[in-house]
Amino acid sequence: MTVALEPAPKLELKPYKSLDNASLAARIEAARQELGSRLLILGHHYQQDEVIAHSDLRGDSYQLSQLAASSSDCRYIVFCGVHFMAETADILANRPDKLAERIGERVTVVLPDMAAGCSMADMAAIDQVEAAWADLGEVIDTADITPVTYINSAASLKAFCGKHGGIVCTSSNAKAVLEWSFQRTSRVFFFPDQHLGRNTALKMGITNEQMPVYDPYNTDLGGHSEDTIRQSKVILWRGHCSVHQMFTAAHVQQFRTKFPGIKILVHPECPQEVNDIADVSGSTSKIIQTVAAAPPGTKWAIGTELHLVNRLKQEHPEQEIHFLSPVVCMCATMYRIDLAHLCWSLENIVQGHPVNVIEVDPEIARWSLVALERMLEVK
Ligand code: SF4
Repeated sequence: MTVALEPAPKLELKPYKSLDNASLAARIEAARQELGSRLLILGHHYQQDEVIAHSDLRGDSYQLSQLAASSSDCRYIVFCGVHFMAETADILANRPDKLAERIGERVTVVLPDMAAGCSMADMAAIDQVEAAWADLGEVIDTADITPVTYINSAASLKAFCGKHGGIVCTSSNAKAVLEWSFQRTSRVFFFPDQHLGRNTALKMGITNEQMPVYDPYNTDLGGHSEDTIRQSKVILWRGHCSVHQMFTAAHVQQFRTKFPGIKILVHPECPQEVNDIADVSGSTSKIIQTVAAAPPGTKWAIGTELHLVNRLKQEHPEQEIHFLSPVVCMCATMYRIDLAHLCWSLENIVQGHPVNVIEVDPEIARWSLVALERMLEVK
C-alpha cells in the first residue's frame, strides 16, 4: 500500500524568537547536517560572528555568489547578507548554462530576513534612474554615456546597465571598469554610490568639476545647468552607504594625534575627505589582505563596517587594530539576520517550504547577467 505523504506545514517565525542562542545553534547545525551538500550558507564579511560561525563560505557579495554558483551539488543558498546580494546569487546560480547542467533544476536562494535591505541600494530606484537617463538625454547623447552600477544595487539597475551598453563594478575593479567605459564612450553615469565613483575617478585624473552629482529629487537636470552636464565626464548619483559615510577627516586626525605612526585603512565608500588622507584605500578584500600581510606590531585605524573590524582584531592579535570612529558604524540591515531567522529559514527548507525566496524576474536576470558578464571581461 502506498501512503501519500502530506507536506509538513510551514513553520512560523515567532517561536524561534524566544529560543536561546545555544538551542538555535544546535538546531541550525542539525538542519545543516540534514541538508548536507545541497545547502550552502553564505556569510558576508559584515555579518555578526554568531551567524558567521554557521557559514559554509565567508566573503564579499560577489565572491560568495560566484563560489556558490560554481557548486554542482548546491540546491539551496541561504544568503546571510542583504537583498541585492541574494538577487545576484540567484542570477548567477540560475544562469542558463548552470540550469542546463542541472537539467533545468533551479537553485533556491533564501534571504533569512526580507527586511535586510541596503540603504545605498535603496537610494536608486529603477524609475528614478530611467527618469534621469531620459532627462540627461535632452542635453547630451545617451549613446555616448556608459551607465555603470556598483554591485550594491538592485537587479533592475544591473539590467538597465545591461540594456544600455553598461556594466557592473565592484569596489575591487571600479577603476578597470571606468577605463573600460571610457574606451567606449566619453562619459559615465555612475550609481548608486557617489563616493566610490568619485574616489575612483579622482585617481584617474578626473576633477570634481567634471563630476556633477545628480539629485534624483531635483527634476531640473538633477540640480545642474545644461553646461555643467555637457562638460561632465562622470555623472555621479546622489547615493551613499550609511555606514561608510560616517567616517570623517576629523576621526583620521584624532587617531594620528593619539597614536603616532598609526596607519589609516579605509574603504572607497568613505567620503573623499577621508580617502584623500588615508594611507591605504581599498575594497573589503584588500582591507583583509593588507592587514594579513602587515608585520606584527603594526597599528591600524580601519574605516569600514564594525563587525569586520572586530573580526580582524580577533584574527590578528599580533597587530593593534582600532575602529576609525568613536561612534558605532555597523550595517544595521545586515544585522537583522540573526540566529532565529537563520534557524527558521533552514528548518522551513528541511520541511520542504522554503520561505523568503529571492527569485529575480527572468527578463531582469537576463539583462543583469549581460552587465555582470561584461564586468568579468574586464581584467
Ligand atoms: S554596509 Fe552599506 S553598502 Fe554594504 S550592505 Fe550595508 S548599507 Fe549597503
